[in-house]
Amino acid sequence: MNIGIIGYGRMGKAIEQLALQRGHNISVIVDENNSEDIAEQLKGKVDVAIEFTTPQSGKNNVFDCIEAGIPIVSGTTGWNVVEADMQKICNEKNSTFFYASNFSIGVNIFMDINEKLASLLSDFDSYNASMVETHHIHKLDKPSGTAISLAKGIFKNNDKYVNWELKPVKDIRNLEIESLREGEIIGDHKIIWDSEIDTIEIAHSAKNRTGFALGAVLAAEFVLGKKGFFTMRDLLKL
Ligand code: NAD
Repeated sequence: MNIGIIGYGRMGKAIEQLALQRGHNISVIVDENNSEDIAEQLKGKVDVAIEFTTPQSGKNNVFDCIEAGIPIVSGTTGWNVVEADMQKICNEKNSTFFYASNFSIGVNIFMDINEKLASLLSDFDSYNASMVETHHIHKLDKPSGTAISLAKGIFKNNDKYVNWELKPVKDIRNLEIESLREGEIIGDHKIIWDSEIDTIEIAHSAKNRTGFALGAVLAAEFVLGKKGFFTMRDLLKL
């Protein structure tokens, strides 16, 4: 298929490689210096657009494509994607949008384990949860989109926490997230449930960007010919 890449940075370049390996054609590449009228540049030339830019531009790019009826896959973090709202908008506009704060298959399985652990510990008040996420120094948002998704998975399954807060936490009803920015670390997430008796930890560590890029290309293949709003739960049948 013909793929349009919006955002030709670390992720855009990894996606280009993966898409070519899987036999796709990259028909348009849009980056910050040619980002005028994105929908106009893509219309009629791409089957699906894949968007990885910045927290400031991600939302606009996605809405431009939805408005123009261009199927879009986006992984840009740092803007609040409300599933119910996006479902409604995609249905109204008869458009296609696939969003994941993390496209890695391993992370999405880790998210499921996180929800299960939060649920198992919901009757044991002596365990206190916290999270540590570490990324490269170029990352613009804090905490990571993945950390926020993991935190939401905890609130959904454990009444002890209602929101998240960056370290140091002021409200004990909030889950503490420590966001570290070090070197070129791709993305590490650790959930800690600590009690006076013991500690339970689960962790995921990305070794390279291939997992994110592969997930994004698989998502583009998945949405071809479909209408509506989709997430990794649809792709992985979780
Ligand atoms: P990057 O800084 O390497 O690349 C971003 C690119 O977007 C740059 O080339 C920049 O010039 C371009 N850009 C900026 N504004 C633009 C605009 N208006 N139109 C088009 N292009 C524009 O960043 P990255 O590491 O590739 O990450 C991009 C985003 O993806 C970040 O939000 C990051 O957190 C997120 N991310 C998500 C996942 C996931 O699995 N969902 C994985 C990795 C990164």
